[in-house]
Order: sequence, then structure tokens, then C-alpha cells
Amino acid sequence: MKCAKCGNQASKYNKEGFPVCARHLKIKIKPPKCPNCKLEMVVREGKFGRFWGCPAFPMCDGLQSF
Ligand SMILES: [Zn+2]
Ligand SMILES: [Zn+2]
Repeated sequence: MKCAKCGNQASKYNKEGFPVCARHLKIKIKPPKCPNCKLEMVVREGKFGRFWGCPAFPMCDGLQSF
């Protein structure tokens, strides 16, 4: 897997669920807020890749691309 920040070899996932190299492990990616219910969105993986999804899914279908 590749670091979400620099594309180098990633060894770990950060708190938000992104694969990151050791150098970028501490940098936080701020999640956007759901356009419908204003909850902080979470990383989801679908057949088209990663996207931000609402944590209240399936009650709320708010999503946002990266
Ligand atoms: Zn990196
Ligand atoms: Zn929502």
C-alpha cells in the first residue's frame, strides 16, 4: 500500500484510516462534515476507491469524494 500523503511505501494506518508512511503517521487529515447531518465523516472504501461517508449511514447517505 502507498502513503496517502506522499505515495511512498506505507506501513501503517493513521487514525483516520489512511495508509501512511512513518514520516506522515502523525499528520492528521481533517475529516469533512456531512452535508446532511454535520457529523464528521469517515473513510469508506467502495469499488470506485476511497471516499468520505457519513457515519450515520444507512440512515444518512451523505458522501463526499476525496
Ligand atoms: Zn508519506
Ligand atoms: Zn450524514
